Formats: sequence, C-alpha cells, structure tokens
Amino acid sequence: MSSALQGKVALVTGASSGIGEATARMLAAEGAAVAIAARRVGRLHALRDELAAAGAEVHVLDLDVTDEQAVHAAVAATVGTFGGLDILVNNAGVMLLGPVEGADTSDWTRMIDTNVLGLMYLTHAALPHLLRSRGTVVQISSVAGRVAMRGAAAYNAGKFAVNAFSEALRQEVTERGVRVVVIEPGTVGTELREHITHAPSKAAIEERVAKIRQLQSTDIAEAVRYAVTAPPHVTVGEILIRPTDQA
Ligand code: NDP
Repeated sequence: MSSALQGKVALVTGASSGIGEATARMLAAEGAAVAIAARRVGRLHALRDELAAAGAEVHVLDLDVTDEQAVHAAVAATVGTFGGLDILVNNAGVMLLGPVEGADTSDWTRMIDTNVLGLMYLTHAALPHLLRSRGTVVQISSVAGRVAMRGAAAYNAGKFAVNAFSEALRQEVTERGVRVVVIEPGTVGTELREHITHAPSKAAIEERVAKIRQLQSTDIAEAVRYAVTAPPHVTVGEILIRPTDQA
C-alpha cells in the first residue's frame, strides 16, 4: 500500500463494477479511506472485505444516485464515518444507446436522471465538505461529452451536460481551493454496454469493440490517480483518454 492519499477520505459512486471499482481499489491502495456506493450492495460488501483484508478503511453505501434524499444521506454517512470528505468521484452511469427516431424515452429519463442529475445531486451534497477540506471532485464524463455521434444523442446530451456543469462549477470554486477534474474515456471494457435496450445498437457496438484493444478500467483509475495526487496548486482539469485502435 502506498501513502499518497493517507488521511484523505474519498467517496466513489458506481463502485460495484468497472471504472468505479478500479478507482476505489486505486484510492484504497493510495491510503485513502473510501466510501463505496452503488445499488448492488453484495458486490460492494465483497470489495470492502477484500480491501479491508489488505488494511484499507472502507464503508459501504447502498445508494441509488437518482434519489436526492439518499444522496444527502450517503454523503452524511461518509462524513459521519470518516470525519470529512476530500475526494468525490462521480462515476455512476448508464449508456443506453439508440437513434432518436422511435427511441424508448424511458431510456432517456433513466440516463439523464443517473448520469446528469445524480452527479449534480452528489456534487451539491458534497460541496460544503469539499470547500472545508479544499478537496477534489472527479467527474467521469466521456469522449461522448466532447464529440457527438449518431446513435448516441441522449448519451451525448448527458455527457455534454456533465462537462458544462463541471466547467461552471470550476469557475465558482477553484479560487477557494476546490479542484474540479473531468475524465473523458473512450471505449472501456466494462459491463456498461450490457444494459443497452436497443438491440441493433447493442449489436453494432459489440461488433465494433470486438475489433479493437479496449481501454481497461485500471487505465482510467490511473488517470484519476494522476489528477488526485497532483500538488494542491495544480488542477488537472480535463483528461481525454482514447483506445489507440479507435478512430
Ligand atoms: P459499469 O456498468 O461497469 O459501471 C456502472 C456503475 O454505475 C455500476 O457500479 C452501477 O452500479 C452504477 N450505477 C448505475 N446506475 C446507478 C444508480 N442509479 N445509482 C447508483 N449507481 C448506479 O460501467 P463503467 O464502469 O464503464 O461506467 C462508469 C462510468 O464511466 C459511467 O459514467 C460511464 O458513462 C463512463 N464511461 C464509460 C465508458 C466505457 O466505455 N465503459 C467510456 C466513457 C465513459 P449498480 O448497478 O450496482 O448500482
């Protein structure tokens, strides 16, 4: 275990799989006390047991980020358990691809509720604590927050919203010592695609990714590590990470 984040407290949403799980592992390995949040608490308990056996302090939060009251309770539980909050990683998200024409708009609602409002609720609830600790917010956005593509309009809309919200927030809080970091991955090999409900879109993306070397969740955790362990006067504002094989 390293000690770059010894004495720091982190909260990671969507820590039950993929990028969130890898990020929680990285933060714990750097010595942070970590609150891990998601809905599949069985997975969180297994992760906590594993990290605790290696000497980490880990607290499990049963959290649906679309529930604003539950978000406030989760932040309060983190601060109550560990005494403060230094790093918030807003990672929970879904990617329900499909064309606008004929879309199942319940996919849009779910995506915007989770990827945008959930992230905003967490940021809002955590901000007083982050201002106190001069902490860091890490937003897991996407290349889709920088470049729109047909078949991804609603996902693009949500991730563009994350980037806009984060830049405005940065301007509000940076002079008070809070760092806002936006990470924008390209395709990462996780469970994200499994939830796509539009069958042709799911088949098309599976076919595309089968031909490339995807990023791994640990590649994204490394980017988070770089940003959160930078000296306090350095804000790594934005990191865009693409698979080399993806044009
Ligand atoms: P995964 O599907 O592996 O992880 C998504 C995580 O989000 C899970 O832990 C899930 O936990 C959690 N989650 C989903 N909905 C909710 C909710 N309502 N409340 C709480 N937690 C929720 O995918 P990734 O790791 O790939 O995705 C993580 C982030 O990375 C997302 O924001 C995604 O948009 C972004 N991203 C991913 C890319 C990729 O190619 N994989 C590329 C660019 C960005 P649970 O179901 O247990 O609640």
